[in-house]
Amino acid sequence: MVSVYIHIPFCLKRCFYCDFTSFSKINKTIIDKYINALCFEISKKPPNPLKGEYKNKIKSIYFGGGTPSLLSISQLKIILSELKKNFNILSNCEITLEINPATVSIYKLKKFRKLGINRLSLGLQSFDNKLLKKSGRLHNITDNFNVIHQASLAAFKNVSIDLIYGLPNQSLEIWKRDLQIVCELVSKDLIKHVSIYALSIHEDTVFGKKYINSCHKALPTEKEICDMYNMACEMLNAYNFEHYEISNFAKKGYESVHNLTYWNMEEFYGFGLSSHEYRDFMRKANTSNLQEYLENPLSYEILESNTIFDEFMLKLRLAKGLNILEFTERHNLKNTMSFESLEKYIKEDLLLFKKNTLKLTEKGFLVSNSLINELYSMIGKGSSAKL
Ligand code: SF4
Repeated sequence: MVSVYIHIPFCLKRCFYCDFTSFSKINKTIIDKYINALCFEISKKPPNPLKGEYKNKIKSIYFGGGTPSLLSISQLKIILSELKKNFNILSNCEITLEINPATVSIYKLKKFRKLGINRLSLGLQSFDNKLLKKSGRLHNITDNFNVIHQASLAAFKNVSIDLIYGLPNQSLEIWKRDLQIVCELVSKDLIKHVSIYALSIHEDTVFGKKYINSCHKALPTEKEICDMYNMACEMLNAYNFEHYEISNFAKKGYESVHNLTYWNMEEFYGFGLSSHEYRDFMRKANTSNLQEYLENPLSYEILESNTIFDEFMLKLRLAKGLNILEFTERHNLKNTMSFESLEKYIKEDLLLFKKNTLKLTEKGFLVSNSLINELYSMIGKGSSAKL
């Protein structure tokens, strides 16, 4: 079974922190041309039956962006029909659409549901009007509440929301209020999944120009950012949300099938501008030049990647962790990890090590980048194969 990612690179307006590949002020003709190119790409990358029919079956489809909720019902229908023509979409396939609250109505949501979309990922980002405005978002809190209620009225049972922490002028109190609102929505059973992302400031963005100095007084301190993360873990855990990945929390049974494909290093197709895919142990990236994509939707480059490290890193981002014995055997590496070699991390409450399984703690999640690199270098030293 495989997953499919579809990139829709159009937005009403660029948010001040965003460095994703997306374009604003695009007319319908360009979007229609893009959809033609996308369908061409889908039709030319069918599964290879010589490699086993299982590759034909799709367990999740994710429309990301950009703002895929900008598409009209008929545009979305064209893409889904092309997928159906070329792949075997499982009857229980998770089909997610990212939604910007500024772009939908109850009418549109009901139509999306009818088309087969069964999961929404709502880009709410904050419940503070000032922060939303200062981040260049086009929606306000009222829109946030509206889209959540409309999603429920449109019979979406699987709704996820995205929140950002570490925004300029975001205090711990503001973040706490956001989380309280989320918990209230959770207790009303309106939300099943929450993703929290720490703001990262990229050079070529409005924020990048304004907050080039990471010590800018408007930016929360590192300690405050850690406190925000811990606060979210604590409050969401109290509402029986399972912290199943560093940035993701879900009610039991509502973990994202699609994102688990990435974290478990399973195969996925990527269609559309700048989309990535992982198949046959190879990572590829489509061109991120819109004109080039419209002219040749099959233009891609193969990415250099260390898939052994990728697996190590991605699995340690998951709460269930990584079975180091299975991992080293599968990759023909020498297993040099022992309780003794890991003791210092265990004592610092960064890591758990039981039944050959390594798991980062919530404290460990906070320093995951450096911690995972340190742990990986420990296997590297004793390995019998080149990492
Ligand atoms: S809506 Fe999303 S993709 Fe579009 S500019 Fe804002 S953050 Fe970026």
